[in-house]
Amino acid sequence: PLKDKVSLVTGSTSGIGLGIARALAAAGSAVVLNGFGKPEEIEAAQAGIAELGVPVAYSGADMSKPDSIAEMMEMALTQFGAVDVLVNNAGIQHVAPLPEFSPAKWDAIIAINLSSAFHTTRLALPGMVQKGWGRIINIASAHGLVGSPFKSAYVAAKHGVLGLTKVTALETAEQGITCNAICPGYVYTPLVEAQIEGQAKSHGIPREEVIRNVLLAQQPNKRFATTDELGGIAVFLTSEAAASITGTTIAADGGWTAH
Ligand code: NAD
Repeated sequence: PLKDKVSLVTGSTSGIGLGIARALAAAGSAVVLNGFGKPEEIEAAQAGIAELGVPVAYSGADMSKPDSIAEMMEMALTQFGAVDVLVNNAGIQHVAPLPEFSPAKWDAIIAINLSSAFHTTRLALPGMVQKGWGRIINIASAHGLVGSPFKSAYVAAKHGVLGLTKVTALETAEQGITCNAICPGYVYTPLVEAQIEGQAKSHGIPREEVIRNVLLAQQPNKRFATTDELGGIAVFLTSEAAASITGTTIAADGGWTAH
């Protein structure tokens, strides 16, 4: 269904972004990958997309830098002629109580988790408007809908992403473009695996207990979503069945925000 379409996924060298990039590629889209990592990891990510039989490119652009974002968007347009599906996924986390929260970390989280989506969106829209078709998918979080202590910048940025999602949808509503957010709860990624191991060791409790009572304490279904599931949701949002879904949020949080 995405044959002849071009997708750009920020922060797609690992985790959720890579899962979404692979799902879009499997649906036939050319893919522009972005993110940091060891050269061999980036090569493996690119090879994994190419194996699916679609063109793939990579940009190492830093999502905290507007100039770097502009270069990435320019590269995508020069190389592939369009960005039809834009997935704003790059994100970082920092956990500290407010009085101790580093102002530099605050600025970095707002820049990467929120402002980067503004920059990619403003640069992708003219092409989408010209074509009369586009899909923008913002990866927010359950923390776009509810708060948790010690995550001030992250929660503020993710709530901001939902605001940007609504305005983008309103401004493009008559132009064949949709903009939505996905709000995952906990998703199983290498980072989460490291947290399970770390907490099990430091608390001296079995990993099942860490998963149930520590990491997934807020998540009623007591299971992690997978990056493949997130990929499936993203592909759905690009589909014709989703043509009227815009300006809203799909929570994939196992009931977290139903509390
Ligand atoms: P991850 O750390 O596995 O991947 C993050 C990606 O962003 C990587 O490719 C990394 O290289 C890239 N990145 C980081 N800083 C960057 C920068 N300055 N410029 C360009 N790329 C940069 O994380 P993940 O768990 O896959 O998270 C992806 C998104 O999903 C984030 O926005 C995160 O907030 C959100 N999310 C994750 C979970 C979860 O449980 N894993 C839950 C809810 C929301």
